Amino acid sequence: MEDVMEIMRHPDQVRNVGTLAHVDHGKTTTSDSLLMGAGLLSPKVAGKALALDYVEIEQLRQMTVKAANISLYFEYGGKPYLINFIDTPGHVDFTGHVTRSLRVMDGALVVVDSVEGVMTQTETVVRQAMEELVRPVLFINKIDRLIKELRLSPNEIMQRIVSIVKDFNGLIDMYAPPEFKDKWKISVDKGQVALGSALAKWGITIPMAAKAGIKFSNIIDAYEKDAVGELAQEFPLHVTLLTMLIEHTPPPNVAQRYRIPKIWKGDLNSDIGKALLEADPNGPTVIAVSKVNKDPHAGLIATGRVFSGTIHEGDELFVLGTKVQKRILQTYLYMGPNRVIVPAVSAGNIVALLGIDEARAGDTIVAPQIREIPPFEKLRYISEPVVTVAIEPKNPNDLAKIVEALRDLVIEDPTLSLKIDEETGQVLLSGVGTLHLEIATWMLKERTKLDFVVSQPLVRFRETVRVKSQVFEGKSPNKHNKLYISVEPLDETTIGLVQMGDVTEDMDAKERARILRDKAGWDADEARGIWAIDETYVNILIDKTSGIQHLREIKDYIVQGFRWSTGAGPLAQEPVRGVKVVLHDATIHEDPAHRGPAQIMPAAKNAMFAAMISAKPTLLEPLLLLEAKTTSENIGPVTSVITRHRGRIIDVSQSEYMVTVKGEIPVIESFNLSDELRSAASGRVFWSLQFSRWAPVPESILTDLVMKVRERKGLPKEMPKVEDYINAL
Ligand code: GDP
Repeated sequence: MEDVMEIMRHPDQVRNVGTLAHVDHGKTTTSDSLLMGAGLLSPKVAGKALALDYVEIEQLRQMTVKAANISLYFEYGGKPYLINFIDTPGHVDFTGHVTRSLRVMDGALVVVDSVEGVMTQTETVVRQAMEELVRPVLFINKIDRLIKELRLSPNEIMQRIVSIVKDFNGLIDMYAPPEFKDKWKISVDKGQVALGSALAKWGITIPMAAKAGIKFSNIIDAYEKDAVGELAQEFPLHVTLLTMLIEHTPPPNVAQRYRIPKIWKGDLNSDIGKALLEADPNGPTVIAVSKVNKDPHAGLIATGRVFSGTIHEGDELFVLGTKVQKRILQTYLYMGPNRVIVPAVSAGNIVALLGIDEARAGDTIVAPQIREIPPFEKLRYISEPVVTVAIEPKNPNDLAKIVEALRDLVIEDPTLSLKIDEETGQVLLSGVGTLHLEIATWMLKERTKLDFVVSQPLVRFRETVRVKSQVFEGKSPNKHNKLYISVEPLDETTIGLVQMGDVTEDMDAKERARILRDKAGWDADEARGIWAIDETYVNILIDKTSGIQHLREIKDYIVQGFRWSTGAGPLAQEPVRGVKVVLHDATIHEDPAHRGPAQIMPAAKNAMFAAMISAKPTLLEPLLLLEAKTTSENIGPVTSVITRHRGRIIDVSQSEYMVTVKGEIPVIESFNLSDELRSAASGRVFWSLQFSRWAPVPESILTDLVMKVRERKGLPKEMPKVEDYINAL
């Protein structure tokens, strides 16, 4: 521990890295071999347990679900190094975890299966890494499959590797910011690509092989002569990978120089700006929280990266954007599945904190004297919670306990969302996929040991409009206030800007207007009139009035009415997406007693809903991107499964060894897909699904779907009419 504490103070001897991969490409096996190599697990234990998979369900599913943090000790070039290793989940249902992990990493080890090559999720994680300026190196895993399954010659193996590297660099070219495109492309000759087998625990880079005089034919020989053990002894995977990470990913103080300007929008020339850029251990404390989980004994533990300063047990910390200031009861480092208490953790390292229960993933926590600085940029999740289950306790008396346990789960995993229907009392849990919800309900069971029923998964829709409406008058219940509102669809560019966080509610209004004008062609006046941006569901409220008495006093109520209405739209009480709401005029009662929120909020809702109903409203449904790899004789069967489920084929491409079919399919059609694909292709298919986009449902099924959702929610089974919200004129 003393040694580790000492290294922590030398940033050039620290690396914050993690593995990223498409599911099943070998991330967990690789992490496991790293752990074993670095001496934290004995070889005997490591062979049996997948160490980072310490949540039991992950063992069952052989899949890493929760990002686990661990610090490894490794000697290289006569110097000790501390490698803060962040494990990230491989299944795309958990991309929320990946996003949070990336914030605290500077380098990534991307694992790719040599047979499958670069797949959709490889692309997703590389894109996310580029957005956070996390520098990648590549490990091409399962080389044994090229030898044993495909029986490739040395020359063909080399070609295969060259082609994977080419695909990988294609992703860097596409997603890296211009100044990093060339710098971050990986080169086989520079030792930025390792080849090997995580299962057999050997790995080698081309320069290492050249130095040792090893050729591909020697590796093939090793497999044929059963001498893989010797290969693993001569080129242990952990040494190769840790060496590659130390040589080719940046230490925190170097990375922060270019990452801080991207993730923090404060003044870089201020004292705190300089401390952040330098990862100064003597600067004021600034920590980015990447994960919060509940320790059944200690309480809530917040894990994050110290970007500046040194955090000691007993220090006071302030959560930006709240009024919360707390004393830190304990500071820890991760060692395997355990947290180890340490007296202090300095800039550039990963810390776990006890005592600050209010902190959440994505929060910035700082020393109280700098509570005025801006927080780190918000974390963006690419997947949205689109699948919902209702959870009902067998015994109604258990309801409160179940809700409490669910609240904890949502704290730990912000990509889950919990809603309790006020009228029916139904408990609704939403997640990004069915697997995500299966695991969440499994954890709920483990933690509460209570009996409950989980409904069939339901898909969440969105409501939107397709044309611009006229202006509608919405009256308050007391008829003394009138709001005049129209709605229209937001264009895709604007939706993208809000979703990517380039346009936010909190940002400087002038800057926002400039971006909307330059990038999305907005009218300058309109852009300056923005009152509110619903960043969750992507809607914008604009004020186009002028000189109306008392408007300032009721602005907040109109904004609240807007948020209330976008949370549950007129068609089926599903959230509203992609709508621009414009306030044109208002008549407001002069007595504050007659223009409170209970009057103004319904007035805003009435006008907005009447406008929406008149503007060709429709439901949007979530679509999944499906990528299936199969053999050429199965193209027909696989594509027909996709089209049968209202799917669309985007691309079919053939490589030397397999065919890749890409398509889009609605989430509601995806529940039995696994079985159907498997049987269509007689098992010779593997595939992945990930959230693709929201798309209007076909007109032919719109009414039917609206009725189904309304019925489920206990709403009258008829299409809403404009007259429901305004008096017919
Ligand atoms: P993850 O989903 O990326 O974490 O992948 P895992 O580490 O769980 O590995 C997925 C599967 O690939 C498991 O069945 C592993 O045993 C297997 N696997 C991992 N490494 C290798 C390898 O080097 N060669 C072969 N043939 N299989 C491997």
